[in-house]
Amino acid sequence: MPAEAALPVTVSPPPAFAARATSVGGSPVREILALTGRPGIVSFAGGLPAPELFDTEGLRTAYDAAFSASARRALQYSTTEGAPELRAAVARRATARGLATGEDDVIVTSGSQQALTLITSALIEPGDVVLVENPTYLAALQCFALAGARVVAVPCDEEGLIPEALAEAVVRERPKLLYTIPTFQNPTGRTLPGTRRAAVASTAARLGLWLVEDDPYGDLRYEGAEVPWLAAHPGAEDRTALLGSFSKIMAPGLRLGWLRAPAALRRAAVIAKQAADLHTSTVDQLAAAHYLAAADLDAHIAGVRAAYRSRRDALLAGLAGVLPAGSAWNRPEGGMFVWARLPEGHDATALLKTALAHEVAFVPGSSFFTGPPDPRTLRLSFTTHTPQEIARGVARLGAALTEHGSRW
Ligand code: PMP
Repeated sequence: MPAEAALPVTVSPPPAFAARATSVGGSPVREILALTGRPGIVSFAGGLPAPELFDTEGLRTAYDAAFSASARRALQYSTTEGAPELRAAVARRATARGLATGEDDVIVTSGSQQALTLITSALIEPGDVVLVENPTYLAALQCFALAGARVVAVPCDEEGLIPEALAEAVVRERPKLLYTIPTFQNPTGRTLPGTRRAAVASTAARLGLWLVEDDPYGDLRYEGAEVPWLAAHPGAEDRTALLGSFSKIMAPGLRLGWLRAPAALRRAAVIAKQAADLHTSTVDQLAAAHYLAAADLDAHIAGVRAAYRSRRDALLAGLAGVLPAGSAWNRPEGGMFVWARLPEGHDATALLKTALAHEVAFVPGSSFFTGPPDPRTLRLSFTTHTPQEIARGVARLGAALTEHGSRW
């Protein structure tokens, strides 16, 4: 048939997108932040690990080993739950951190972000309530919104979730789950103290609530004593999905994370994963397993911690000299972020535009809030620049604040 005869006389548009595809927005500052990759910019914006610290040689050796030991297996389809040796290695690391874990308790996911999606599809019906910290991780908010959840913020203070406020919210909202990042939270860097973790776990047990403990940053501690996982507290055992990641301690491009969950929830997550991607890349899993067997990941993490600690300290030292009187900021014991709040009348989104003109960037805190945002807040990531570059960036931030100050 000639091509022109194939077209009907009238052409109808294809049907509309699903409402969720248009109702859930990206980050309102995404366009501005796209500029932060410009050469010369000192960026405190991205939540990226420092690429010069990746163990590229060790990982190349691990990929070589995966191919020479078992190329056909590495290139073949594999089980949804993940490669047994990687699951076993994850279980050993979790056990060493104080949470007895067997290989079967864990599934490997394509980044911990996927674990969040799997848990959400296993638990959330449209209209279900999800409780979150305020502010919290933007892509988690997007994940819950895409599932049609009603996201409700639990009041937080400098130490994170306020347990009494959580109990009130559970009674009032009858939520399915609490999503929390108790250790070195994104975006605030806060860590929930052990006593509050115990209270959260017992509230969940008493009032009936799933707990989703997202912990991509827990290995990046620069000072202070380790706080046991929420999942390890009495009451949390049968109702916690613990999400871990290799992104911040190995490399995010591997897209390897894991989920530790009670059996029934894990089974539901496995079905959701079959529908999502069948399984996580076999070759990447086997390479990671070889890496964990042959290299010393903890020694690598110790090096990363030392570098990040000095970067954090450079940022904190600099901020003290440039933030206007009346500003407040925290000193995170680990992770990647400092959270700051400018004095009354300031607006971090307006400041970002001036800051970019001065070749420095950060993320305005507003993007991370559920409900009314606090426009005076900003998130500063300290991982991707050297202390010298950080000092330069902070000086530029000071210049931007001075310029902006005349307009406030
Ligand atoms: N949770 C939090 C709190 C994060 O900050 C991130 C990434 N920055 C993720 C989950 C996802 O990490 P990944 O998928 O790389 O493991």
